[in-house]
Amino acid sequence: MVIEMKRQIVNEFACSFSAISENEHFARIIAAGFIAQASPTVTQLADVKCAVSEAVTNCIVHAYPDGGLNNQVKMSLRLYDDNYVAITISDKGIGIPDVAAAREPLYTTDTTGERSGMGFAIMESLMDSIRVTSKVGRGTTVTLKLKLGLPDE
Ligand code: ATP
Ligand code: MG
Repeated sequence: MVIEMKRQIVNEFACSFSAISENEHFARIIAAGFIAQASPTVTQLADVKCAVSEAVTNCIVHAYPDGGLNNQVKMSLRLYDDNYVAITISDKGIGIPDVAAAREPLYTTDTTGERSGMGFAIMESLMDSIRVTSKVGRGTTVTLKLKLGLPDE
């Protein structure tokens, strides 16, 4: 008989902050600090910071067209006993009408020429998996998952 063990959460941390660009930096530092306990490699630390930065920047830039100061981004971090980290970044903003299209490289709704439409593609390339759910007028949730530490022998 095979007994499947469900993975257990070993630590959890959540925070929320105004959707303004100053806070992108803090979100990256919090994520890096949280995963430090799981012996990440230098590359994994950099990758998590970069993916968090892309997800949080999306909330700041796209979610709240009327301004982010009085609107929140929530970030929840969970560490599991198999050394996976799951980071959920969510907003209650305008949402994404077509998530599959938005995840395509070079897709952007930006009209200023400042954005390249590579955020989701970058998150996907750096993480083991990403999940994006969204409802128009309700908001967007992105979950980033990565196994930390050196690979098992
Ligand atoms: P870049 O990330 O390269 O600066 P970008 O932000 O436009 O450009 P992606 O991060 O891949 O590219 O996002 C693609 C598109 O998905 C965005 O242009 C935007 O229309 C939509 N989007 C992404 N995140 C959100 C969000 N949190 N709320 C609303 N729309 C979003
Ligand atoms: Mg982006």
